[in-house]
Amino acid sequence: MPAPEPPPAAPALPRLAVVIDDVGQSLTVGRRLLALPGPVALAILPQLPHSQTLASEAAAAGKPVMLHLPMENMAGLSIGPGGLTTGMTEAEFRSQLQQSLNAFGPIQGVNNHMGSRLTADRQRMDWLMQVLAERQLFFVDSRTTAQTQAAFAAEAARVPHVSRDIFLDNVRSEAEIDHEFRQVLARARKQGAAVLIGHPYPETLAYLERRLPQLEAEGVQLVSVQVLLER
Ligand SMILES: [Zn+2]
Repeated sequence: MPAPEPPPAAPALPRLAVVIDDVGQSLTVGRRLLALPGPVALAILPQLPHSQTLASEAAAAGKPVMLHLPMENMAGLSIGPGGLTTGMTEAEFRSQLQQSLNAFGPIQGVNNHMGSRLTADRQRMDWLMQVLAERQLFFVDSRTTAQTQAAFAAEAARVPHVSRDIFLDNVRSEAEIDHEFRQVLARARKQGAAVLIGHPYPETLAYLERRLPQLEAEGVQLVSVQVLLER
C-alpha cells in the first residue's frame, strides 16, 4: 500500500502589519486605537502628555508598543522633544537616544517620526542601529526620503528591519484612505506581507474601526511587525 500522502500544507495567508504613528497627545484617541482588533502597533512619541499611560495600557492589553523617534527633517519642521539631529555630537546623539528609548515602559521596536534629513545620514543611522542591536529592538523605516540609509545601517548592525509600504492617510478623505488601504492589500498579496502606517486622525480611526474586522474574511492576516519579521 502506498504511504498516505501528508495533508497539503495550508497556503500561507498574505500578512499585513499596521502601525499608528504620532500617538501620545490624546488619551481618548489612544484608547480607541487600543480597541482596534488585532495587534495594531502604537508608535508613541517620547514626551507627550499621555505617552506613559498609553504605553502601559497597550502593554496590559497585549498590543505592540513602539517608540516613534523624532528625527530631523529637510523642511526644518519642529520635531518636538526627544529628537535626534545631524548637529549633535556622537555623545549627545547617544545620550538623547538612550533617554528617548527609556521614555516609557518596554518597547518592541522603533520607527522614525519625520527624519528626511537624519535617515539620509549613514553615520548617524549606524550610531542608531548599534544601540537598537544592543537592546534587541527592531526598526521600521517610515521612508520619509528616498535617500534613507536606515535599511543599510540596520542590515550592517543586524537589526531586524522592514520598510513602510504605504502611508494610509496622507490625504485625509475616506476615498483616499480606502484607495491606499486597497493598495496595501494588493502589496501584501503580491509580496506575501506589507507594512501600513497611519496616523491618529478621526478619518483614519473611523476607517480602521470599520475595515479591520473584515480583513480575515478577505483572506489577509493582521500580524504584529515582530511576527512579520520572525518569518
Ligand atoms: Zn510621525
